[in-house]
Amino acid sequence: MFTFILNTIHLRGIVTKSTGSWYSVRLENGTDLECRVKGKFRLKGYKLTNPIAVGDNVIIKVDEFNEAIGQIVELEERHNYIVRKSVHARKHSLLASNIDQALLLVTLGYPRTSTGFMDRFIASAERFNIPTVIVFNKLDQYGPISMKALEELEELYQSIGYDTIKISALEGTGVDDLKAIMKDKNSLVSGHSGVGKSTLVNSLIPDLELYTQEVTDYGKGQHTTTHAECYELDFGGWIIDTPGIKEFGLVDILVEDLDEYFVDIAKFKGSCKFNNCLHLNEPADSCAVKLAFANGEIAESRYDNYLKLVDEIKDFKHYL
Ligand code: GDP
Ligand code: ZN
Repeated sequence: MFTFILNTIHLRGIVTKSTGSWYSVRLENGTDLECRVKGKFRLKGYKLTNPIAVGDNVIIKVDEFNEAIGQIVELEERHNYIVRKSVHARKHSLLASNIDQALLLVTLGYPRTSTGFMDRFIASAERFNIPTVIVFNKLDQYGPISMKALEELEELYQSIGYDTIKISALEGTGVDDLKAIMKDKNSLVSGHSGVGKSTLVNSLIPDLELYTQEVTDYGKGQHTTTHAECYELDFGGWIIDTPGIKEFGLVDILVEDLDEYFVDIAKFKGSCKFNNCLHLNEPADSCAVKLAFANGEIAESRYDNYLKLVDEIKDFKHYL
């Protein structure tokens, strides 16, 4: 009598690519394995189109007779994630998870990045618990006057609590300092088209020829949300590349929550007389945010952009 026992091995890895039904997992020993998902994975509060995302730390199971395919059987707790409404009604797509920081590339000219765009992005990132690092690129193009404007903007965001850095992706200035910021972290690279994202990523990962081409393929406003990928950095860490969030906008933010995501406004809101204060038309003596603004404790651009976003959210029937 001979009994047959199928041995299975459990391994740990990070999801580096997601195409909807297949996932690439980079195992701890550095090899990649194509995996399927086994079992149900839920995210509280959401109906998801895809249960697993790039950036997820997973446990996979491999049969000893079929090492070429793994099964994702367990998911480690995510410390954050990005979801966006999918084209399917009432469902959300999980775009990426475990994002340590968003690098927001900004240029003041060619192309111009407005503070409106920056604040919209930063608030969206706050909504997902992702800290933003503002990366001012194309430093080589600044003259004395534009440099002054740049430094004022830098000071503003530093005073709110955001890290900033000035680089030239083209000439390499500041790139080593940026590498130090990125080391051992999962970073999302974002910003307007033309600010230098591909140039930067290609200089960080020279073998990655695909990147530029993929960026143009995505196009603006195209929501092919299931394809995401992350790339390992040789100095440690990852770049997460997710279509649709190069210039990602606010999602699922309620008007009454928006002030949470403007940290300089959130600081004062606890002192407003009404706890549902939106800091809009409420009488000035009842609103601590308006008072702080009048006293110069909140920057004009920040308060203005907050007001614009409130309007924008209301126009979208409460949601963006
Ligand atoms: P993306 O759309 O954000 O990926 O931007 P690209 O990387 O394609 O860059 C857009 C243009 O800006 C290209 O012509 C780049 O060569 C140029 N560029 C990128 N970084 C810099 C920089 O630091 N300085 C200058 N002068 N040009 C840059
Ligand atoms: Zn108020």
